[in-house]
Amino acid sequence: MCGLPPGRPFLCVVVRHPCKLFIEFFIMKLTLAIQKSGRLHDDSMRLLKECGIDITNGVNKLKAEAGNFPLELYFLRDDDIPQYVEDNVADIGFVGENVVLEKKKQVIPCEPLGFGKCRLSLAIKKGDSFTGVADLEGKRIATSYPVILGDYLKSQGVSADIHEISGSVEIAPGIGLADAICDLVSSGSTLFMNGLREATTILQSQAVLIKNAGLPAEKEALLERLLFRIRSVKKARNHKYILLNAPNDRLDTILSLLPGMKSPTVLPLAEPGWSSVHSVLNENDFWNIIEQLRDAGAQGILVVPIEKMIV
Ligand code: ATP
Ligand code: ZN
Repeated sequence: MCGLPPGRPFLCVVVRHPCKLFIEFFIMKLTLAIQKSGRLHDDSMRLLKECGIDITNGVNKLKAEAGNFPLELYFLRDDDIPQYVEDNVADIGFVGENVVLEKKKQVIPCEPLGFGKCRLSLAIKKGDSFTGVADLEGKRIATSYPVILGDYLKSQGVSADIHEISGSVEIAPGIGLADAICDLVSSGSTLFMNGLREATTILQSQAVLIKNAGLPAEKEALLERLLFRIRSVKKARNHKYILLNAPNDRLDTILSLLPGMKSPTVLPLAEPGWSSVHSVLNENDFWNIIEQLRDAGAQGILVVPIEKMIV
């Protein structure tokens, strides 16, 4: 095919002209839609940077190009991203799961991205009692998520009056527009300031990578390269590299506490009777294991962040 190196995603286009035959080559690029500005923008750009992808121009424009990866970026409103990906205007997108579920477009979620974490919750006035979602039967609920809320209430056998509002949902009970709201929450401080309290969570959400359902094989291959980098960055964020000194007579106990990627590394120290032990720990087990290591006689414990983790 065009005599080009195998495995490189080139698109070969033959252009016919009355007197000549031009053959032009374009490098096939993956197009990625991210939020133009808002809560997901900075984390989306940071993830790309940590994946070693340089965005060379135009963050203030609608489009930008990666200098060192076949990737083009489109900056859009987050609500529009699923539609653009379904329509193949963008091949892939970074967007909140909440938006994906609300818009119900034909797109495929491929990878949770670990940022934009929030929950979609039902909230009621501070003084109102709440024993369960059945308490909302026949009530007016304001939300920007009528589809997710409607599906949830249906699954609970509750019938309520859903008022769709595009923004500032939290003020609806205060101005008499609704009895309750269903909105995104992270700390709960906005609810508190508006005299509301969280009653129950109906969805846990984070940003996800979505893809068009019919990507050609060349673009799937580019996506696999990007996903490989994203997974390595995510793994590194969740792990720490640990170095410690262990007395040889406690080595067995100390090693039994450490997982490592294959197994811990053990090197002799210059001081007789001591070893240096290196390992990788998961963030979730971290403090637990450090305490046990200290109790087992480990000394001089150093903990270092990992930039990338290829497994
Ligand atoms: P746009 O102008 O792109 O439409 P927006 O105002 O709809 O932006 P943001 O408030 O920037 O959207 O939120 C974007 C996404 O960030 C949400 O859809 C959600 O996935 C995530 N998010 C994380 N925490 C929160 C939060 N506390 N409140 C709202 N969204 C949050
Ligand atoms: Zn939006």
